[in-house]
Amino acid sequence: MKTATIVGAGLAGSLWAVYLAKAGYNVTIFERRSDIRLAEIQAGKSINLALSHRGWEALRAVGVDHHVNELAIPMTGRIMHSATGELTAQPYGQEGQAIYSVSRGGLNAKMMDVAEKEFGATINYNMQCTGGNLEEGIVYLTNKLTGEHSEHQSDLVFGCDGAYSALRYKAFQKLDRFNYSQEFVEDGYKEFLIPANADGSYKLDKNALHIWPRGRFMLIALANEDGSFTCTLFMPFEGDENAFDKINTKAEIEAFFETRFPDFYEMCPNVVEQWGTHPLSSLAIMRCYPWTSGKAALMGDAAHATVPFYGQGMNASLEDCHTMGKLMEEHDHDWEAIFKAYQADRKPNGDAVQELSKHNYLVMRDFVADPQFLLQKKFENRIQELYPEKYIALYSMVSFSSIPYAEAWKKGQEQDVYMKDLMQQHDIESLMKEGKVDDLIHRIFKDKLVSN
Ligand SMILES: Cc1cc2nc3c(=O)[nH]c(=O)nc-3n(C[C@H](O)[C@H](O)[C@H](O)COP(=O)(O)OP(=O)(O)OC[C@H]3O[C@@H](n4cnc5c(N)ncnc54)[C@H](O)[C@@H]3O)c2cc1C
Repeated sequence: MKTATIVGAGLAGSLWAVYLAKAGYNVTIFERRSDIRLAEIQAGKSINLALSHRGWEALRAVGVDHHVNELAIPMTGRIMHSATGELTAQPYGQEGQAIYSVSRGGLNAKMMDVAEKEFGATINYNMQCTGGNLEEGIVYLTNKLTGEHSEHQSDLVFGCDGAYSALRYKAFQKLDRFNYSQEFVEDGYKEFLIPANADGSYKLDKNALHIWPRGRFMLIALANEDGSFTCTLFMPFEGDENAFDKINTKAEIEAFFETRFPDFYEMCPNVVEQWGTHPLSSLAIMRCYPWTSGKAALMGDAAHATVPFYGQGMNASLEDCHTMGKLMEEHDHDWEAIFKAYQADRKPNGDAVQELSKHNYLVMRDFVADPQFLLQKKFENRIQELYPEKYIALYSMVSFSSIPYAEAWKKGQEQDVYMKDLMQQHDIESLMKEGKVDDLIHRIFKDKLVSN
């Protein structure tokens, strides 16, 4: 039986273990942390993630999606909270389409359970990878509890050890002609928890992603299963006023939330305490190439870490597993061919997901409260409703389809130009008010052969 080593039992590592074990490999995982299923989730690190179509497809392909169903809360749209507390709802897609809020820890624990118990993978905890020999399929390890050093050899090695991957730093980066760059964005993030009501009910609509867009900074909230919401404040580290370095005292923290996010402030009475105890974290985009060498490959954030503004980092990582799994069958376990095809297919998509994430940062920050932007989205939604086979909006291509990210990003940019042009030529707002916008859409799209 062929042997495979996976470094990192995170979201990509634990799912990839399932793919490999299902295909008959003997899988060993080395994970730096202790078993998260036994540890308390660290305060302020209770992230929940938006799981969408690509992630579901990757889970479904190996028949483990039903395990995740029970953890997932559907979100059918965004709800924007204005500075004066008014709410505006905007659907994400068509009737019945949703993205899903899932707890990162919960999903990871579940996938680790499945990999171990259902598929026989072995997970070794407190084992930190410190390097590797990619040609020989060796990973170097340090036991974090005993300090003991060891090495482990196998037929294949997969670096699923996240944005700060040790396999990438300590092995891939030693290769000749290996390209690498990292780009920290100016913003950091801090998490807060809106508790459930006393009776366990939610303080906000749980089936929406809540956004408080404030120009250069924003707050978002996703529902947890227990009636609470995990909220994330994204804001520059340094700045004139609305910046983490300008908010330090109890009075400054209270004034910040009371004036910028009054409805949130009411729902989160101990925000000062949370500010003090929850960490401030940074965000970066990591690019590198090649993603494979010898017997080893990088997957997930280790290959293409991105900023979280499209909610696609995990989805892209799970899609890496899906693609590698398909290639494994297509090339009948010829790993030289699989690795070649994997990086040729996934690198442009990794680049595109990074571009999309940067783009959506601006959308969420600056445009979701812009009436012209909202009008364009409404118009696009209506076109998509009437001519779904001819027009798919960018958000739908990314979140509700498997169209490769690179294709979606390219098409999305073209569509944006086209839409802006249409909106200049026609008074869409008046047509909508008069109920005549469908006539215009039919005139344009009825005889159109392909989507624009
Ligand atoms: C604030 C925030 C919000 C996000 N929201 C979303 C979202 O809504 N939707 C979405 O799709 N994505 C989101 N993401 C991105 C998502 O979290 C990542 O893309 C995803 O976790 C990547 O999975 P991974 O398995 O590659 O890496 P990770 O999940 O980071 O797992 C890496 C694993 O490797 C282990 N490890 C690290 N170093 C070593 C080592 N040296 N030796 C052994 N083990 C090691 C780690 O302990 C960890 O278990 C968000 C990210 C952030 C920061």
